[in-house]
Amino acid sequence: MSHTDPATNAPALLKVTGLQKSFGDHQVLKSIDLQIGKGQVLALIGPSGSGKTTVLRCLNGLEIPDGGEVAFSDGPAVVFAPKTTQKQAQVLRTRSAMVFQNYNLFPHMTVLENVIEGPIQVQRRKRSEAVADAEALLARVGLGQKRDQYPHQLSGGQQQRVGIVRALALKPSLLLFDEPTSALDPELVGDVLKVIKELADEGWTMVLVTHELAFAREVADEVVFMDQGVVIERGHPDVVLRAPQNERTQQFVHRLL
Ligand code: ADP
Repeated sequence: MSHTDPATNAPALLKVTGLQKSFGDHQVLKSIDLQIGKGQVLALIGPSGSGKTTVLRCLNGLEIPDGGEVAFSDGPAVVFAPKTTQKQAQVLRTRSAMVFQNYNLFPHMTVLENVIEGPIQVQRRKRSEAVADAEALLARVGLGQKRDQYPHQLSGGQQQRVGIVRALALKPSLLLFDEPTSALDPELVGDVLKVIKELADEGWTMVLVTHELAFAREVADEVVFMDQGVVIERGHPDVVLRAPQNERTQQFVHRLL
């Protein structure tokens, strides 16, 4: 696939077309189209319940969409239909890694064990390599001394930095952040945002679901506003967050800024 992302002109890494997902009678995603350029940050914003988390979970293979297509530029398109199996969605699980709102660390494992679990158990990498990688990544986010502690011994901000390291250790093409700072005390938010900003500056491709609109403006190349399972508006952060065209976007943005 040789397309470029129309919003940013970067070569497209991921193209999502017509993504649909229902839970029972509730159609949560009503044909979502997204395109993400390599090395770009897409911020996904919108009211609670608009379907943002479901988009991330579909991209990561944690939910199986009912319809639509998800294609990485260097891989086959995954085409979804009501009968798509877990196995078909598995392709996506290897391409992206998710950072969860509530960290989702394994409570009975140390920091190091949390980070090396995926590389060793899922990716079948050598333990010595996985440990060396994990140690380097932990040191990078200032947690080198915490490798043998358990999650409950860490602050929320430290736990979330472990969550980020755990995602990086999988060496994914795409990082997915689901409101990564919304469970944190305000004084701990800055440390986590700083790590995310550094990753963006390093050229990681990411989708960031966030209510931190000032941060989205600073870090995102494109902002997508969703409401009730539909993309309402998308564009440059200065436009969508400062001078949105759509009335629903205007109301949402003015409430939060
Ligand atoms: P957002 O991230 O924008 O807050 P979500 O994607 O979490 O929105 O949720 C969108 C809608 O889908 C909500 O109404 C939510 O209740 C519903 N939903 C999400 N996951 C499930 C599920 N597993 N079962 C039933 N309904 C769900």
